[in-house]
Amino acid sequence: IDARPEAETDALRVLRRVFGYDSFRGSQQEIIEHVVAGGDALVLMPTGGGKSLCYQIPALVRKGVGVVVSPLIALMQDQVDALRALGVRAGFLNSTQGPDERSLVEAEFLAGELDLLYLAPERLRVESTVRLLERGTISLFAIDEAHCVAQWGHDFRPDYLALSALHERWPDVPRIALTATATEATHAEIASRLKLQDARHFVASFDRPNIQYRITAKDDPKRQLLALLRTEHPGDAGIVYCLSRASVEKTAEFLVKNGIEALPYHAGLDAGTRAEHQARFLREDGLVMVATIAFGMGIDKPDVRFVAHLDLPKSVEGYYQETGRAGRDGLPSTAWLAYGLQDVVQQRKMIGTSEGDDAHRRRLGAHVDAMLALCETVECRRVRLLAYFGEKSTVCGNCDTCLTPPESWDGTIPAQKLLSTVVRLKRERNQKFGAGQIADILLGRKTAKVIQFDHDALSVFGIGTELSEAEWRGVVRQLLAQELIAVEGDYGTLVLTETSGEVLSGRRKVTLRREPAKPARAEKAEK
Ligand code: ADP
Ligand code: ZN
Repeated sequence: IDARPEAETDALRVLRRVFGYDSFRGSQQEIIEHVVAGGDALVLMPTGGGKSLCYQIPALVRKGVGVVVSPLIALMQDQVDALRALGVRAGFLNSTQGPDERSLVEAEFLAGELDLLYLAPERLRVESTVRLLERGTISLFAIDEAHCVAQWGHDFRPDYLALSALHERWPDVPRIALTATATEATHAEIASRLKLQDARHFVASFDRPNIQYRITAKDDPKRQLLALLRTEHPGDAGIVYCLSRASVEKTAEFLVKNGIEALPYHAGLDAGTRAEHQARFLREDGLVMVATIAFGMGIDKPDVRFVAHLDLPKSVEGYYQETGRAGRDGLPSTAWLAYGLQDVVQQRKMIGTSEGDDAHRRRLGAHVDAMLALCETVECRRVRLLAYFGEKSTVCGNCDTCLTPPESWDGTIPAQKLLSTVVRLKRERNQKFGAGQIADILLGRKTAKVIQFDHDALSVFGIGTELSEAEWRGVVRQLLAQELIAVEGDYGTLVLTETSGEVLSGRRKVTLRREPAKPARAEKAEK
């Protein structure tokens, strides 16, 4: 905005005249007034809550340029274009620019011709950028996606650690850190790493009541997905998350063959294709984006009607953030997840080979455990989810466990049978096997592998015919979720935990949720 009349120092005036909105939402006004007055703030607000205005308006009201640190390089151009369309003087500096473009923005910054300057975090590690900032007037620092500074979190970015220096260099410039995802642990880590101990914390409710959470056991995931899309979301826009690039490609192809308009998105596609697919998803109606988690951060599409996960997310925080992309417009939306035992095995394997020290691996393991516990709970999903973020709530009536309460049953005896098979293999044979072989033994199946290892001679052979194979898999998953058994190694072998003994000795009862019956008719689909 070129001329700023007196009256525009009023945050509400800026909201109305620049952004065209009538009133503030939630705690926006309080946050904005606090930052305008020069205070530091840590803002935790769910996706779609309206975080951007919390720093954009103070940047317009205060003297100088608001510097916004964001990891979302791919979105900076769009964000800046959108602001410029409103008459806000915005620019960005990141690695996608050529030197000419960069010097132009630098000149604008120095001439005081910018209201907002978006920066990729790695820019601040470049001494010349810091010197540039020192020569201008800065109204505030906004640190977007602030959870990226937390090693405990799920999306750590080392460049963020350098942001603690901002406070030392510019002690008088207010800082506002914002994130849509933070457990109490992450939250505390953000405050300490960014030296925001004196910042006021603004914590909005993380509940997204219009999202219906549903988690189901994986059976034939692509067909399960197709059934969901055909019956509940025909013609709707949505996102389908898969763990690997290969499964993204396969799933997108499968949907297209079955008459659903779907596009793939993952880091293995070239930048041009990714940008095109993203643009189409934002622009067109009813497209389904099949993607790895490389897609979605910062995407503002209000009418995403469903987010489906075909694999277990790596953490509850990630799951919450990804599902949060559904229903930003407040209309009913679905968050659907299918997961199986193999997901847990695969995640463990990935953690085993991941970079970083043991403490890091333990953190990753704890994240998977928490995710698994959410999947296997017999309680309201929303209550569990919000509790994870430190929020107390009452049963929601809008999740699968509320809508069709799972029956629970006394699984102590099956659990003992399963655990004693693991014990026998270990004690008598010094062997470890995965869930598949253990189920075969319990079911008394003389498969090639059972015969090869002489497992039909074990006393536990055939003692578990009261359950089906799928049910045994369910038992394994639930014991895992209750930490009564653990998986390790590349082949997902089952091993005992410290608490397994309590079940074996009969000191502890095991309550399990009953697996819902399979639908009678399989979805008709092209392979
Ligand atoms: P977040 O960054 O928290 O995910 P955004 O800042 O992108 O959310 O805001 C989400 C949507 O809500 C945007 O389309 C934004 O323009 C809109 N919005 C934000 N604040 C208000 C408000 N006070 N009144 C109306 N719409 C708003
Ligand atoms: Zn519920």
